Amino acid sequence: MSEKYTINPARYRLLQDGSGSAAGPVIYWMSREQRAEDNWGLLFSLNLALQNQKPLIAVFTLAGDFLGATLRQYDFMFGGLAETEKNLEALNIPFVVLKGNPPQEMAEFVRETGAADVVSDFDPLKIKRVWKRDFARDTKARFWEVDSHNVVPALHVTDKEEFGAYTIRPKITRKLGEFLTDIPAPEPYALNNHGIKQANNYTEILASLNTDKEVKPVKWLKPGSAEGKNNLELFISKKLRGYSEERNDPTLKGQSDLSPYFHFGQLSPQRAAWEAFTRAPESESKQAFLEELIVRRELADNYCYFNKKYDLFDGFKDWAKKTLNDHRDDKRDYIYNEAQFEKGETHEDLWNAAQKEMIKKGKMHGFMRMYWAKKILEWSESPEEALRIAVYLNDKYELDGRDPNGYTGVAWSIGGIHDRAWTERPVYGKIRYMNYNGCKRKFDTSLYIAMNS
Ligand SMILES: Cc1cc2nc3c(=O)[nH]c(=O)nc-3n(C[C@H](O)[C@H](O)[C@H](O)COP(=O)(O)OP(=O)(O)OC[C@H]3O[C@@H](n4cnc5c(N)ncnc54)[C@H](O)[C@@H]3O)c2cc1C
Repeated sequence: MSEKYTINPARYRLLQDGSGSAAGPVIYWMSREQRAEDNWGLLFSLNLALQNQKPLIAVFTLAGDFLGATLRQYDFMFGGLAETEKNLEALNIPFVVLKGNPPQEMAEFVRETGAADVVSDFDPLKIKRVWKRDFARDTKARFWEVDSHNVVPALHVTDKEEFGAYTIRPKITRKLGEFLTDIPAPEPYALNNHGIKQANNYTEILASLNTDKEVKPVKWLKPGSAEGKNNLELFISKKLRGYSEERNDPTLKGQSDLSPYFHFGQLSPQRAAWEAFTRAPESESKQAFLEELIVRRELADNYCYFNKKYDLFDGFKDWAKKTLNDHRDDKRDYIYNEAQFEKGETHEDLWNAAQKEMIKKGKMHGFMRMYWAKKILEWSESPEEALRIAVYLNDKYELDGRDPNGYTGVAWSIGGIHDRAWTERPVYGKIRYMNYNGCKRKFDTSLYIAMNS
C-alpha cells in the first residue's frame, strides 16, 4: 500500500514483530520528539494508521523522577507539551499523558486499547532503552522505532562507536544529500473515532510531581515549538553570519540557544539544518553551525548508543584510562567536594562565574562548559569523582541536560573521548588541558565574571 508521507526506510525499524493483528489503534509513544510538526515518528504513525484504517493516539509517559530532572526542566517540558497537545488537537490526534512507570503504563494502555502498533522515538540513552526493553517484554503489539533526532539516522550512519568527528564526518556527509530534506507537514487525521479525549492540566501535573523545586524555571527562554522556531528564525536572519567568530566568546550572544528546544524535541534538528542549509549564503559560519548541529550532535548520539558506559570512567578509551590512572596520585593544588563546586565556592572567579551562569540561566555558554568540566577534573579527588560531579551538576541545572550531548561533552573534557593525547602534565596526564590565561587571550574574562556575579 502506498504511503501518504514519504519516509526513508532507513529512518525506522521494527523492534518487535508482535501479532499486529489487534483491532485497536496505532499509538505514537512520544518521548524524545515532543512536537507535532517536523516529526518523522508521528508521520510514520500516521502512515500506519492510514494504511490499516485505524485511529491514532499520541501518548506521553511521564516519569516523576527522570534522571534527577528539576522543576526548571519539567517547567520547560510542560510548556512545550501544552502547545504540542493543542497542535495535535488541530490534527485531530488525541494526546494522552500517563503517569507512573513508563513501560508498565504503556503496556497497560496498549492492553486496554487493544493497540496493534506502537511507534517510539529513537533515543540512545540507557534509561530509554530499558523502558523499551521492558515494554517489549510485556506487549504483543508490533513495536517500532523512528529516528527523528538525527539528520542521517544514527543506526544508518555506522554500526560502531566512532573515534571522533574525523571518522564520522565523511560517513554523514556522504549521506546528507539523501537525508537533509524538507519534512512534509501532517494533515488533520480524519479517521479518529475512538472517543478518547484527555485535556491535560500541566500546572496540576507539575505541582503533583515529587521533584526538586529549588531549581527554579527560567524566564529568558520560553518553551515550545513556536518559540523554538522563532529563535531559529532570529538566529538565521541575524546571528548566523557572525557565528564562527562569536560563538566562542562567552561575553557575546553568538550561539543559537537552540539546544533546550532540541533536547526536549520541541524543534527538529533537521528543520534547523534544512533552513540554515537552504537559506543562508555559503560562509565559514554556515559550515561551522552545520558542523556542530549535524556532525558533533550526531557523534554524541553515536557515542551514547554504542558505548553503554558513556557516563562512567570505564567508558573512556584505554589511552585515557591509562594516563588518568598514571596521574591518579598527583598532588592537586585544590580539592573541592560536590557542595563546594555546586555553590561556586572555588578559589577561582572565572570558574565560579561559569557555575553561576548555569545556576541562574540554566544554560552555560558552550566555551565555558569545556573549561568548567576540565577544572572539575583538576580540582577533584579522582577522575571518577570529577565525572560524577560534572554529570550531576550538568543534569541538575542545564535546561539541555540529561542529553547525549552532555554525557559526551563531559566525557570529552574529562576522559578525552573523541579527542587525542596531548602533552603530559600533572593530574590531566595526556588529557587536553585548559587554563585561565588561555581564556584571557580569547575573551574579556573580567566582563564575563561581572556578567555572572
Ligand atoms: C562539559 C560539557 C557539557 C555539555 N553539556 C551539554 C548538554 O547537557 N546538552 C547539550 O545539548 N549540549 C551540551 N554540550 C555541548 C554544547 O556545549 C552545547 O550543545 C551548546 O553549547 C548548546 O548551545 P547552543 O544551542 O546555543 O549551541 P550552538 O553553538 O548554537 O550550536 C547549535 C547546536 O549544535 C549542537 N552542538 C553545539 N556544540 C556541540 C557539541 N560540542 N557537541 C554536540 N553538539 C553540539 C547542539 O545541538 C546545539 O544546539 C556540552 C559540552 C560540554 C563541553
